[in-house]
Amino acid sequence: MPESSKAANSSNSTGSAKKLVLVVVDGMRPSSLASAIDDGAAPTFARLIREGYASSECISSFPSLTPVATSMIVTGNGPDRHGVPSMHWYKRDERRYVDYGISFPAARRSGLISVLKDLVYRINEEHLSASTPTFFESLERAGIRCACTTYMIYRGPHEHEFIGSGVPGALAGVTGMSRPGYGPTDLIYGDIFDSRGTDCRSNYGVPGRRDQHTACAGIEIVADGGYDFLLLSFPDNDNYSHRLGPEAQPASIANADAQFQRVIDSYGGYRRFTEDHAVIVVSDHSHSKVNEGVDLLLMLAEHEWDVLAPRQGRRKRNAAQIAASPAARVGNLYVLDEDRLGTEVPLLVHDLRRQATIDQVLWLEAGNEAAVAMGEAELRFAPGTQYEDLRGQKWDVDGDLSALGLQTQDGLIFSERYPDALARSWSGLTCADTGDVMVTPEIGYEFFDWGGVAHVGGGTHGSLHHADSAAQLIVHGTGESREHQSTWSIADINNLILEHFTARR
Ligand SMILES: [Zn+2]
Repeated sequence: MPESSKAANSSNSTGSAKKLVLVVVDGMRPSSLASAIDDGAAPTFARLIREGYASSECISSFPSLTPVATSMIVTGNGPDRHGVPSMHWYKRDERRYVDYGISFPAARRSGLISVLKDLVYRINEEHLSASTPTFFESLERAGIRCACTTYMIYRGPHEHEFIGSGVPGALAGVTGMSRPGYGPTDLIYGDIFDSRGTDCRSNYGVPGRRDQHTACAGIEIVADGGYDFLLLSFPDNDNYSHRLGPEAQPASIANADAQFQRVIDSYGGYRRFTEDHAVIVVSDHSHSKVNEGVDLLLMLAEHEWDVLAPRQGRRKRNAAQIAASPAARVGNLYVLDEDRLGTEVPLLVHDLRRQATIDQVLWLEAGNEAAVAMGEAELRFAPGTQYEDLRGQKWDVDGDLSALGLQTQDGLIFSERYPDALARSWSGLTCADTGDVMVTPEIGYEFFDWGGVAHVGGGTHGSLHHADSAAQLIVHGTGESREHQSTWSIADINNLILEHFTARR
């Protein structure tokens, strides 16, 4: 046994160090949490903030979409290193679209079985880079036992049998879905993996039933006590906000708070729970309001681009010029003939940048330089020495700073409208499977996906914009040295967790 595991185990056996619970509330908008707290509807989160510390400016990944952000929370790295580029993207070597379930109509076009395999298995086993360990992998390697409820990224060293039963189980057997998954010591994931053989059921992951499933699983896990780190994922808020809008979130945040409270109550109440557990609460991204949909596919067709459709036949596939992945408030465009990159990328940028509903167009230039266009404004940038951003990374910039809403002062460079804009767009653009051109719509707009779905009248996210990107962080009982940290990224969660278990040895 390595030295580090011995240290961790002896620390556990003394009972002096706290366990750690990470609570993820998908898409929780900080101002909606504040409303819920003002109304007395989120008493647990309120108390954790009162007794610990919090930030309403914990900045998400770009794209600010759950698969990208979740991978960032779990690995501490952006998409340039973790490798998951979007919710829907084109996989060049397989000549197909990857879809983690952006909407049911889009999933029907991608193929439902393929979507389930991408969502449950391939994101963990193939798309998430093997060279960026998850916190489950880092902690388990050091002898720290981890437990996880249904979460998009669960990758860890322990094999878990597929437990689907009844009709879905039989269907899974036929379609090759019934493989084991590899996760932390304990994994209770939908109705698919259940290392404890609980009676908790999620009705196959129907939105609105998932938070109670997490609470049910959490109650079983804390009753047994065989864990040091527990991830409780409350995903229902995101779907609720997509349907009803970010201003409706206080109701779904109240539900997440109540479901977390069920776990706490089962342990003997708040005081006993927080005596034994440090708690981190985080949302992976925020939500902005959708007033109107934008048909990116139609926009491309009007400029006579031949766009590859999902599961298109070979003849049409060979004729297509580009693949396009509109996903909420970001789109990725892929030039299919790599010999034509030098001519088609500038043409795509030209066709999109002056559209009234398009906010930003982003691409990589030869020579390892990034470019952003917003209407007439154009900016080029790369890691360098000229300016320092608020998180200490240094950049060279050239052109019109307004393309990323940037300001400079005393050698610092920053953007209020697009927080951490340079580092986030650089990380998004330099992810291997990102499109050759990225595009975001104006605030208030969302791209229709391949199933024709946009959440008009509801909420969404995905862009660099502050409204999509500023997430909530609450820290209680750990990371005291970071209490006055002025800028936060969801990438910091990984370090907070690893530091908790290093510090206690
Ligand atoms: Zn969402």
